[in-house]
Amino acid sequence: MCKRASGREWVYVCVVLTVMVVFVAGGVWADPNRVVSAIDAASPNCKVVSEKIWEYKELGQQEFKSSQLMAEELRKLGYTVTGDLKVPADLVKDGVAKTALRAELKGKGPGPTITIMVEYDALKNGHACGHNLISTSGLLAAAGLAQVMAETPGRVLVIGTPDEERGSLGGGKVALLEGGHFDGSDIVLITHPSDRWSLDQRILAMKRATFVYKGKSAHAAQAPHKGINALRAAILTYNAVDMLREHVRQDVRIHGIIKKGGDLVNVVPELAEAEFAVRALDTATMEETYNKVLNCAKAAELATGAKLEFKEPRVFLKAPIDVQPFTKMVADQIRSLGIPENNIMGMTDFGSSDLGNVGNAYPTVQLYFKIAPEGTAMHSDAFREAAATDEAWKATTLAGKAVALTAYDLLTHPEKVKEIQDRFKELKAKEGK
Ligand SMILES: [Zn+2]
Repeated sequence: MCKRASGREWVYVCVVLTVMVVFVAGGVWADPNRVVSAIDAASPNCKVVSEKIWEYKELGQQEFKSSQLMAEELRKLGYTVTGDLKVPADLVKDGVAKTALRAELKGKGPGPTITIMVEYDALKNGHACGHNLISTSGLLAAAGLAQVMAETPGRVLVIGTPDEERGSLGGGKVALLEGGHFDGSDIVLITHPSDRWSLDQRILAMKRATFVYKGKSAHAAQAPHKGINALRAAILTYNAVDMLREHVRQDVRIHGIIKKGGDLVNVVPELAEAEFAVRALDTATMEETYNKVLNCAKAAELATGAKLEFKEPRVFLKAPIDVQPFTKMVADQIRSLGIPENNIMGMTDFGSSDLGNVGNAYPTVQLYFKIAPEGTAMHSDAFREAAATDEAWKATTLAGKAVALTAYDLLTHPEKVKEIQDRFKELKAKEGK
C-alpha cells in the first residue's frame, strides 16, 4: 500500500512538474494590447519627430539632425544607441557611417533578435519618398516593444540605415551589412509609405556595367583605314544587347547609354564609353543576364579591335527572398488592425533598393502603408505633401503597430522564427531556378 501510495504521489508530482514546464516553456507573456497602448501613448511625440525630420529633409549621408533626433528618442525609450558605425572605407568616406545608428534593447533572457530598419534620408525635393514616416513608424514599434521587453525573451535592434535613395552606391544598408551591423539578426522588418497597403515583396536586383573602349584615332577622310573606331564598339554592344532582349524573361530590364563617343566628326573616335544597368526580380537571373551583356561587350571588342576596359563593380543590389509564412504574419496583423482585405494590394511597378541586400541575407518583410491616393507616384511633390498629413500619420501608427505586434509574436514564439529561417534557406538555394 505504502509503495502504491508513493507511486501515486510520484504521478502527481510528475503532472505538476509537466504543467509547470509547459507553462514556462510555452510562455505566459504580456498582453499584446500593452504594446498597442504604448504605441498610442507614444504617437503624439513620434508625430512631432516625423514633422521635424520632414522639415530637416536631409539628403543621404547628410542626415545628421534626423539620425541624432532618432538616437535621442530611442535612448529615452531605454535603448542603448551606438552611432559612427564602422563600414568599408571604399563605400563610405573614412569608413565611418556617421548618420547610421544601431539601437539595442535586451529582453528577459535568451531568444530571437528582431531587427527593425529605419530610413530618414530625403530627396532634392524634400521627403518625397516619405522616409520621415519610415523612421517614425519604426520609432513607434520600438516604443511599443520597450513596454514589454523586460518580461519578453530575446532582443530588439533598431538599425538606422542612411542614404537609401542612392543605395546603388552602397553607402547605406550594403555598407552596414558588410560592417557586420546586422550580425545576430534573426528577422528584419521595415515599412514604407505608398499609395496602397501592400505586402508585395518584389524588388529588382540590379548591377551596373561601364564599358570603356580604347581604339586608335585617325583622320576620318584621309586615313580611316589606320584608325580603330571605339564608338563602333560601343554601338555594337548596344545593338547586341538589344538583340538579347528577345531572349530574356519579362521581368528583366536592361537600360544603357553611350556617355562618350568622340569629339570631332573628322577624327575616328579613339575613346568611347557606354553604361548599362541590368535588373531582374531575382539575383541569380540578374547575374545570368549581366554575364550575357558582358559577352556582348566582349564580342564588340573582338569585332572592332577596340580594347575593352571593364571592371565589375564590387557593390550591386540584390533581390529579397520572399518568405510567404512571414509575409502572411504581417498581413494578418494589418487585417486585425482593421485594414480590409480588398485594400491590401499587389504592386504593379518595381524598382531596386538596398533593402534587397538585407532581404537576401535575412528573412525580411517590407510593409507598404497607404498615405496617398492610388496612383500617386513616389518621389513626386504630391507624395511629399502627403507624407506630412494627419491621414498619413494614422496609417503610420497602424504600420508601427503591425511591425511591433509581428515582432512581439516572433519574440515569444521562437519556433515561428525557426520555420521562417528554414524556409528562407530553402528558397534562397532555389533562387532563379
Ligand atoms: Zn523610399
